[in-house]
Amino acid sequence: LTFACCCPTLDSKKQIVLNKTEKYKLSHYLVFTEEINEKKDRIVFSTRSCKSMLISAGCYLKLKSEDLQELPVELLSKLYNNRILVNKAENELQTIINENKYAIEEDKDLLYEVIQPSANCQLGCYYCGQNHEKKNLDNGIAEKITQRIKKKLLIGGQKRLLMGWFGGEPLLALQGIRSMSEELILFCAERNIAYSAKIVTNGMSLKPSIFKDLVLNRKVEQIEITLDGTAHFHDAHRYTKEGGRSFDIIFQNLLQVLALKEKEELACELSIRCNVDKKNVTGVSALLHLLAEHNLQNKISFYTANIYSWGGNDAHKQSYSKEEFAFLEISWKKEMISLGFSSAFELPKRKKVTCMVVSKSSEMYDAYGNVFNCTETSYADVYKDTAYLLGNVGSKEKITSERHLSGWNDFVLNTPEQLCNNCRMLPVCGGACPKSWEEGHEPCPTNKFNLPQKLALNYKLSKLSIKNKTNKQLEEAI
Ligand code: SF4
Ligand code: SF4
Repeated sequence: LTFACCCPTLDSKKQIVLNKTEKYKLSHYLVFTEEINEKKDRIVFSTRSCKSMLISAGCYLKLKSEDLQELPVELLSKLYNNRILVNKAENELQTIINENKYAIEEDKDLLYEVIQPSANCQLGCYYCGQNHEKKNLDNGIAEKITQRIKKKLLIGGQKRLLMGWFGGEPLLALQGIRSMSEELILFCAERNIAYSAKIVTNGMSLKPSIFKDLVLNRKVEQIEITLDGTAHFHDAHRYTKEGGRSFDIIFQNLLQVLALKEKEELACELSIRCNVDKKNVTGVSALLHLLAEHNLQNKISFYTANIYSWGGNDAHKQSYSKEEFAFLEISWKKEMISLGFSSAFELPKRKKVTCMVVSKSSEMYDAYGNVFNCTETSYADVYKDTAYLLGNVGSKEKITSERHLSGWNDFVLNTPEQLCNNCRMLPVCGGACPKSWEEGHEPCPTNKFNLPQKLALNYKLSKLSIKNKTNKQLEEAI
């Protein structure tokens, strides 16, 4: 971790040197920490540039009072180059929205497509908003989907194809994943298009042989599994349709897969998502300790998510408030650091395309051939016949190019009462989930509430020689 300091030295010849007479102002898109050391320095993070600077107490006061003439020219230039200062005449919101819209219109780099090849799932998690049926993609529908994806690549000229295999439980339709991957991988190879895939699975069927096949033959580079705590907590959230347990099966699969991955150096990132509400909150810490007991700290990534309403099922009613959850997230991260997990917070990055809903090309296909422009609308009665459904690949009717909520950026720009319009997190958040806003739920990520603490914690960690510290010393330091 490095932090640019506010002392007046320029580290790049290419950077713009400001003339003191120019008119500039403090950017709206800034996050300041509290004082972080005995010198009363603070960190300022620009959500436009995603750069941090360590600033002195004096510099902080001058910035806050916009008393800029008192600051040295070199420092002003550094602040300007990091978008902490911007031109006075700039309408920053307009710039951000323009950049977002340009990224959506002009993206020739990546085509991201999602397929949910099975409408079925072994589990019956209480917060799931889907209705499951024993239905997998049949060959005819699968062929029509692959043809549609190929056609898009030929017309769009994208250089990369990223496939997402989501559920229902995608591994219940393994044969479909195998044959469609094979066809698309071949198509991409012949045209010099880079192909990769990710899969979100409940982990029940992720046996080592299947994992190996997915990674080696289907180019799956990321796998996400959900564990909602240790067995006691997880099984109360994520039980089978018959009410049976699932933790032991998933955890054994995970251990075997990680042993294989280590032995055979299979390049695939594994992550655990832990969905949290008031019922399983103590299960997070228990799960972290269990993972550490098995020495998995550096073999998987781990993150927590606040349970939200899905398809109008009001699952969020047992969840923490956003502020409470952001506080909990910091405490879990500290615990992870003291247990030897990766040692710093990943800071947010500029997000120009918030999600599939605003994209012009990405689509989601379900096992019936339905085409949606949102990943959370399939297999749920509440979204049947809504504007999220663009058509069906098996139908003679044309799949519409009218995409619900695609005007999201203009809506944010032109709607002052919409919270994103004035939110300093907009450049790195993009408004999160337009569908949630439409349904009356604020989808703000934890960074909105705890980014200053994350910045401060990263700074403290950067000051520690982590390798030489015991876990106990680390724990005391944070
Ligand atoms: S609108 Fe929300 S649920 Fe739909 S794809 Fe975007 S982020 Fe996901
Ligand atoms: S979703 Fe929330 S955090 Fe993100 S820009 Fe909108 S108001 Fe800000």
